[in-house]
Amino acid sequence: MRLTAEQNDRAAGVLLATAAGDALGAGYEFTYPRPETPIGMIGGGLGPFAPGEWTDDTSMALAIAEVSATGADIGSRDGLDAVAAQFARWFASRPKDIGNQTRAVLSAAQPDAASMTERARALAGRKGGNGSLMRTAPVGIGFLDDAERCVAAARDVSLLTHDDPQAVEACMLWSFAIRHAVLHGTFDGVATGLVLLPADAAGRWSTLLEEARTAPDPRVFDNNGWVVHALQTAWWAVCHAEETGPAHLPQALELAVRAGHDTDTTAAIAGGLLGARWGASAVPADWQRILHGWPGYRAQDLVRLGLCTAWASVDDDRRRDADADYSRFLVAG
Ligand SMILES: [Mg+2]
Repeated sequence: MRLTAEQNDRAAGVLLATAAGDALGAGYEFTYPRPETPIGMIGGGLGPFAPGEWTDDTSMALAIAEVSATGADIGSRDGLDAVAAQFARWFASRPKDIGNQTRAVLSAAQPDAASMTERARALAGRKGGNGSLMRTAPVGIGFLDDAERCVAAARDVSLLTHDDPQAVEACMLWSFAIRHAVLHGTFDGVATGLVLLPADAAGRWSTLLEEARTAPDPRVFDNNGWVVHALQTAWWAVCHAEETGPAHLPQALELAVRAGHDTDTTAAIAGGLLGARWGASAVPADWQRILHGWPGYRAQDLVRLGLCTAWASVDDDRRRDADADYSRFLVAG
């Protein structure tokens, strides 16, 4: 299977728009921007981060993509071990910001999947943080040839740090929706993916999605450090941006940030799906130019990892070409 030019643009957009949302929200984390406050890639926040710098959300997504872009099956035991090793590598870099659950697991586990999964399972208390959903976007492009393996891998990658039914379900549904958007150019996968969830979960998530779609105000679900409200906030932003073309992407990311609280994460989550729907070409050039972050990457690297992941999943022989000019997928200028 060979992806069309439009599908390549959309695959290239998944990590790029994840990072764009993340870097846009980074300067507003744990605040509620006032309506008159302009939203931009101002930096600051908890890092503090530089303008255009992405945070842990994107860095952990890239840790997954570093593995999937080689053609490895991140749903296999070896693939999960490689992802776990990348998480450990990122953690060893002493990141500026890290979620509580992720820190609890990575600070105590060996750098392999079995150790992390067991550590995540053994954590006490509430375990439904948004930290696995925020990094699930690359799983959506890692299995363009197989929806069921995509969803199964989303579950297993979540379980490395987030052993919670709703965190797992959210990762399954969002990864499926991102995969669907790259292939078909619509947001329909958010609804059609419900059938791949455990039977008791589909009806519950259908209600939650409808609540987000129809809510006039995102304060209804503003505990968005919790995975359920994080997904609802992201979906609210996607549904309430009024633009109907590529400008829908930056508009929806701004809405996710304006919804407040865990702004970098809700916008990163929204960004994964928006990039999958509208493509790298919809990410504004002035954002592309300043995006950067761990491990010393820029926008072109996000495009490379996204495309190599997507191409490996469909056995396209263009994959893993170190000399390829990935900047041609970015906006000129
Ligand atoms: Mg963050």
